[in-house]
Amino acid sequence: MALIVQKYGGSSVGTIDRIRNVARRLIETHEQGNRVVAVISAMSGVTDKLIGMAHQVMDNPPERELDMLMATGEQQSIALLVMAITDMGHKAVSFTGAQAGICTYGSHTRGRIESIDPEKVVAALNDGCIVVCAGFQGVTREGAIHTLGRGGSDLSAIAMAAAVRADLCQIFTDVDGVYTCDPRVVKDACKIPVLSYEEMLEMASSGSKVMQARSVEFAKKFGVVFEVRNSMNNNPGTIVQEENRAMESLAVRGVSIERNQARVTVSGITAPVAYTSLILSALAEAEINIDMIVANTAHDGMARQSFTMNMNDLGAAQAALKPVLPQLGPKAAMETEAGLAKLSVVGVGMRSNSGVAARVFRALAEAGIATGMIATSEIRISTTVEAADIEQAARVVHAAFNLDQITA
Ligand code: ADP
Ligand code: ASP
Ligand code: MG
Repeated sequence: MALIVQKYGGSSVGTIDRIRNVARRLIETHEQGNRVVAVISAMSGVTDKLIGMAHQVMDNPPERELDMLMATGEQQSIALLVMAITDMGHKAVSFTGAQAGICTYGSHTRGRIESIDPEKVVAALNDGCIVVCAGFQGVTREGAIHTLGRGGSDLSAIAMAAAVRADLCQIFTDVDGVYTCDPRVVKDACKIPVLSYEEMLEMASSGSKVMQARSVEFAKKFGVVFEVRNSMNNNPGTIVQEENRAMESLAVRGVSIERNQARVTVSGITAPVAYTSLILSALAEAEINIDMIVANTAHDGMARQSFTMNMNDLGAAQAALKPVLPQLGPKAAMETEAGLAKLSVVGVGMRSNSGVAARVFRALAEAGIATGMIATSEIRISTTVEAADIEQAARVVHAAFNLDQITA
């Protein structure tokens, strides 16, 4: 008898019919003799709608109350799902994050999982129930409700799989697995059968939001092998696990795109002090995540520094940097540029295959696409492009690495 954790995302429970579909799938897995824990997202669109309502009430809603509000989305879907299972004559029980023993710490709206005490979950499994847990939420030791960042039900599922020592962790979504690029953007993208944690993490954190990046980090840390699959069919999905030698044969395994990027450039820096630290500390204090950083010294002896971030953080970044400018030099000034996007190619094979960057930039140049800032890691190359060019950029780079022809 196996213990299986199955996560169903928002689109998989987006309508009452789809909730019934999930109920049937859980019952089927249970009837095959398995113990089943389901981790469920809010119905698609619900979290966005709740956030929208909060912003109708006030400009900057307190994050504690946002958590309180957002957590209700998952409570709706778990209750409806248990009703559907019950209606089909099977035993099930729903648990909020707190009831499932998910203990969190850190800041509201981006809580981190401290520990999971699955006592109630295990007791309900022993009682023969299908256990349905709310994704995306937990509770602090002091009893405050936390959410785990957007897409956080992936993290709930992986953490629950680690806590109950599941034999299998399956992430059900609305595509057949992880593709070589978002299949909604590149039509001939292929499903990748097996992917390493590192590749999945780099893809997720560079815009392939099929998995939440933090959940992949957690899976890697605790060795949780998981499979991304489609909730509407029985096709095999993508297994994400430790790297193996076969994965290195391809230099590039996937292409990610991230829209809504903005750039801030601080110029006229003459301060002899460690100005990078001043700038980055101001941004860190304002809890702004920056991505690419480029620093250089111009001919006139003044330094400039540029960095990219999500568009949503641009206003806060400007506000955080304004008071710092006088400390950077009498001519220090700030310029901003919105309307950017980021293209990344990812693959562990990059470590042993050279010429990957040249191929990326040749493909973009041949298509007449201008590139901006560039950043690399051991297994990723990223560049900014104009937002209007990003889909074409993804298609030409995807084609340049023959990613429509992968078989392994
Ligand atoms: P869920 O509601 O199940 O959590 P998400 O919307 O978070 O689903 O993730 C699934 C979506 O991720 C797909 O519909 C797809 O458009 C998008 N996506 C982005 N990049 C990729 C990729 N490389 N492979 C598969 N899907 C991707
Ligand atoms: N409902 C949450 C969101 O939309 C969490 C999730 O779906 O994973 O971000
Ligand atoms: Mg998701």
